[in-house]
This record gives sequence, C-alpha cells and structure tokens, in this order.
Amino acid sequence: MKEILFEDIASIMTMKSAHLKEGRTIVESDLSIIKDACLVVDGGKIKWIGKKSQLPKTYFKITKKSLNGFNVYPGFIDCHTHLIFAGDRTPEFEMRNKGISYQEIARQGGGILSTVMQTRKASTVKLLELAQERVNECLSQGVTTVEIKSGYGLNQKSEEKILQVANKLKKINVITTYLGAHAIPKEFKNEDDYLKQLKDDLKIIKAKNLSQRVDIFIEKNYFSKEKAKDYLEFAKSLGFSVTIHADQLTRSEATLLAIELKAQSADHVICINDNDKKKLASSETTAVLLPAADFYLQCQYPDARKLIDLGARVALASDFNPGTCPTQNIQFVGLLARLQMKMTLPEVFSSLTVGAAYALGLQKQKGALNTNMAADFFVSKNKWNEFFYDLSNIEIHSTFIEGKKVY
Ligand SMILES: [Zn+2]
Repeated sequence: MKEILFEDIASIMTMKSAHLKEGRTIVESDLSIIKDACLVVDGGKIKWIGKKSQLPKTYFKITKKSLNGFNVYPGFIDCHTHLIFAGDRTPEFEMRNKGISYQEIARQGGGILSTVMQTRKASTVKLLELAQERVNECLSQGVTTVEIKSGYGLNQKSEEKILQVANKLKKINVITTYLGAHAIPKEFKNEDDYLKQLKDDLKIIKAKNLSQRVDIFIEKNYFSKEKAKDYLEFAKSLGFSVTIHADQLTRSEATLLAIELKAQSADHVICINDNDKKKLASSETTAVLLPAADFYLQCQYPDARKLIDLGARVALASDFNPGTCPTQNIQFVGLLARLQMKMTLPEVFSSLTVGAAYALGLQKQKGALNTNMAADFFVSKNKWNEFFYDLSNIEIHSTFIEGKKVY
C-alpha cells in the first residue's frame, strides 16, 4: 500500500503520554492532543504524525486525503463482549420489570440457556449475518477493535461455530476469547465433569487456532475459584492468555486468582475489598469495568475511583450480551463511567483505548496513535469535551482501520 497523507485535521488525540504511562494515573495532558495536525499512513501503520507546519518535505507530494477540518481520535477498543448469539430475549425485560424472578423466567424457557438453545440451532450463515450487523454498529461508533467471547454454545461443536463466525467477521479487528466455561450445560452433572470435557476441547481450539484467549465465569453456582485455577493453568500450559469474569456478584477472590495467574484482565471486579484493590492496582492485570451491565442489572458499580487512585490500569467495555446488557453503545458506557463511577473524561478516553489495548495484549500496536502503531482511528466534528455527555449529539463522520475507510 502506498503512503497517504491525511490532512485538514483540527486536532488529533494521540494518547501518546497515556500510552507511555501504560494507562495509569491519567490526566488531561496525557491525551496528547495535537492541533492543526496531519498524519502519514504507510502499509496500515502510522509513519509520521504531528503538526501540519512540521510535516517533512518528503511527504509533500504523496497522495492526500482531506478530513474536512474535523477531529481525529484513536479507535475505541471494546475489550469485553458476547456479541455472537441468536434468539430474542426482549420479553424477559418486561417480565423482570414486573418483578418476575430470574428463576421463574428460566423455568418459562428464558434466561441464558434459551440463548444457548437458539445459538446452537442457528446456522453459521445466520449467526454471521447477525454478528456482522452488530459489528457495523461498532464501526459507526468509532470502535475499531472488538473482543468477542464464545460461551453460548456450551458444547464443542457450537463453541467452535461461534469462534469460526467471529474469525470470519469483516471490516473490524476481532480478538476472540474461548468462554466454554460460561455456565454448566444441562448435559453435565457438575463442574468437574464439564471442566474435564473443556480441557479436551481446549486442545482442539488450540490445534485449530480458533482463539488465543480463555475466559471463565467464577461465581456461586457457576465455577469455583479452585477448579478455575486448575483449568486456567492448563490453558496457560497450552499457550493461551487468560482472563476472568471476576467478583461480579459475590466475592470469590477471583480477582486475586487473576493476579496470581498474570491474567491479561480481571473483568467486573465489583465485590472486591481494599486489599484486593491494592493488589490489583500494583499488578500487570488490567481491571475491566462494565458499567452498562451494572446499569441494566441495577447492581453496585465497581469502585473505579479507588482503583484508579491506587494506580490501577483500568479499561471500560460494553459487555454487550442479550441477557444482562443489550446495548453496544460506547457513549453510554462512558457516560455511566463518568456519572456513576466518577471517572474523569481523560480517564474514560484512556480506558477505552490504551487500557483496553492492554486488556487484550494489543498495547504495542493499538490504543494510541503513534509512529509504527496501527492507523486505527475515527473522525468526528465533535470536540473531545463533548463526548460521553449528550448521547444524541456525537456524530462519527468516518472510521478507519489501518488507514482504510470502513465506515
Ligand atoms: Zn461478560
């Protein structure tokens, strides 16, 4: 691919300083905004970025593309989603609102197992069609990388189908995560039996190169910390990176396990004590916060303020799924982070870019707009201080991945 000069840019938020600080203790100057800027892209990577007035002469005659005097932002990274599923859980929302219990909803055929049934039944073509629409929604919001978990198949054949669909999605960067350990399917007596099966399945996922990450839901009535430790250690021995749905509804010390196993991320981290927070903050594990799920569940939000003030690296993500968080709206996620968790605006931007890149092990290529990093960005007429404020006011003009327009 030949060099392209993107010009007529009012400002570029590069996140250069946030990236140098590895996404910790972020303040406004860490957004590293350059005014009257331009950038040169070559082979999908940034070759030069800076003030227009300082552009080296060698780039004066290359192909130019005007960005209409708009602002450029690093593409958002949604580092925790359950984006591939079939079926409809909209009636449950009404039922829950009427006070009908989750157990009763499940008895009437709803709940997570209904998504599993529908997803097992759906063809690859149908799942791909549904997922691609959702990916297009990501792009329209400036999301350039999305993490997608399996976990609505709960048997080898269907889990494989989900990961294959994830790997076939077009236009966006996808990181897949194998979440066979999402819940124990009806076919298995207990967690021991199921995890034994999952260990065999992991070998197949690895051999077929369907995913490089493994996740597990550690929670009462799902998977215990002790069994999860054995399973994740096995996954690591096969070469997988690991991540954990940790301490969401009750404290099981899953966050401590994530730190012990050097997991890329510990996600949710709501029911954790001060000691857990300190340990998480001084570890390399990224705390992934999912406030839109907490909003829909009307539960407690994680203590983002304390985590950040202790020096933790925080990421924000949607947790998009049909049951507990049916929205993919990144602006809404950021708004909740500000309103409910008192995160500052620079912290929100960093959490959706640098922090999220770390959570997925992508920090060398993505999350900031620096020389030699991927040219993944979006263009908006909105100024940075207008984001995560008025949900209807943000206009994403276009989205680019590796310098190519995808939206
Ligand atoms: Zn989740």
